[in-house]
Amino acid sequence: MKPFILILSSPSGGGKTTIAKTLLSARDDLAYSVSATTRAPREGEVDGVDYHFLSDVEFKKRRDEGAFLESASYGGHLYGTLAESVDQAMDEGCHIVLDIEVSGARQIRERRNDVVSIFILPPSASDLVERLGKRNTETRGDLETRMRAAIEELKEAPQYDYVVVNEDKIQAVAEVAAIIDAEGKRTGRQEDLRDIIETLRLNLVVEVEARAGG
Ligand code: 5GP
Repeated sequence: MKPFILILSSPSGGGKTTIAKTLLSARDDLAYSVSATTRAPREGEVDGVDYHFLSDVEFKKRRDEGAFLESASYGGHLYGTLAESVDQAMDEGCHIVLDIEVSGARQIRERRNDVVSIFILPPSASDLVERLGKRNTETRGDLETRMRAAIEELKEAPQYDYVVVNEDKIQAVAEVAAIIDAEGKRTGRQEDLRDIIETLRLNLVVEVEARAGG
């Protein structure tokens, strides 16, 4: 099957990272694209696993070299998807999962046609604020920046192929998994479809002729 780029976006606190991690641990047809960022690691984050943490200078150098499939500024920091890791995972036959914000998603949709994009919606404003508050990773200023960013980001949801409401994590994961499965069944993605159908037809001809002859 031809792999695709799976974009998951949501406002910060919307649950896309949890959904992505749950799916990645459950399925071996998915790989995660580790982004580069100039923001500082949060407690528990590991360089090369959660992000490639780069200095401003290093990030801009890599961007000028054309290393990123897309890049964007968010909350005063730079974020970017490394083209090489996307290509590598897809060459190995995996769908590549990108947990990125809306302007990066737009850039990728404009550049590639092998994209499936899903916007994860919080069930309500108060739910989003509560989840952001619980994180305890942001300062008050950051929190407000992220809430203001969410007001803008939500406007982009209709540009995505799918919208999933994250009321219940298990249900949201199941809905995203169903989308991945259905997208894999698209005729254009099934590389061996012609061979399968041709073999079926030939075998049917043999069956028909055997019956006619007997
Ligand atoms: P955080 O700092 O909370 O990890 O991420 C902030 C926002 O940046 C989130 O919406 C996240 O999805 C987005 N993000 C993470 N990596 C990338 C990336 O490579 N490109 C873009 N455009 N956004 C990213």
